[in-house]
Amino acid sequence: MMYNLSDIGTVKRLLEENGFHFSKSLGQNFLIDPEVCPQMANEAVSDGETGIIEIGAGVGVLTTELAKRAEKVVSIELDKRLLPILSKTLCDFDNVEIVNEDVLKVDLKRLIKEKFGDRKVSVCANLPYYITSPVIMKLLESKLEIEKIIVMVQKEAADRICAEVGDRDSGALTAAVNYYSKAEKLFFVPRESFIPSPKVDSEVISLRLLKESPVKPKDETVFWQTVKAAFAQRRKTAVNSLSAGLSIEKSAVSLILKECGFEENIRAERFTMNDFCLLADRITDYKIKGENR
Ligand code: SAM
Repeated sequence: MMYNLSDIGTVKRLLEENGFHFSKSLGQNFLIDPEVCPQMANEAVSDGETGIIEIGAGVGVLTTELAKRAEKVVSIELDKRLLPILSKTLCDFDNVEIVNEDVLKVDLKRLIKEKFGDRKVSVCANLPYYITSPVIMKLLESKLEIEKIIVMVQKEAADRICAEVGDRDSGALTAAVNYYSKAEKLFFVPRESFIPSPKVDSEVISLRLLKESPVKPKDETVFWQTVKAAFAQRRKTAVNSLSAGLSIEKSAVSLILKECGFEENIRAERFTMNDFCLLADRITDYKIKGENR
């Protein structure tokens, strides 16, 4: 039996029959707008041979649209209580597998290899908002063999993710997104499109993974340490946040900033990707010199 999972009455009945109550702490806001999931699935599946990883199946409203278009869908859902519901709503599809795990704990590299072999893989999800940043960071930093990430996030998160590094909205997540992908906003989704309705609006974004990063730091680890330290204390000047985050004396950081041509009281959000690369390379040199002293 096919369920109309965009119909609020059907979803409410299904949840009631299974004694399901929404968990706020798991970010459970289920989509009930009939337009949104087909549109997301169209963006995610470039051809019928694509493999898709979904994060958070809910009752399967997006999962079914993905399953209609992709060759195989693997959906990672943490909440066990949804499994009996999903076994009903997905019973017509033999190309969907639910993995009952926490997306932040699962070994995604292994999962992709095991479940998809050599297929092209993309990620598509209406993300649980309480873990938007760590999930996107994990998807990017794990250097997975994936083509694109089509995700729904809070409107404010979309602004931050799609900002340019050096804009007021930018942060460490913006830097990671710019380093690994090309980010684009796709469409706006109002809060009334969900049950229960959240307090904020949403936006669907696309992150297309790049083959090569736009900057090439000498040492990637130092680059990310620098970016994360710079943004860790946004209200402080870069000299203070870098000194605290990297455990380098303030006077040394001050000198490095000066040598790179930055003003003494510059703040992290003013740095561009190239600035971060220049700075990180100088810090790498400083560390090597320091260790050889
Ligand atoms: N895809 C469904 C939809 O669009 O209606 C559900 C989206 S809902 C915003 C997020 C889903 O992620 C919920 O089903 C929730 O149980 C699940 N979830 C929350 N935390 C998770 C985690 N750490 N790992 C995997 N799934 C998680």
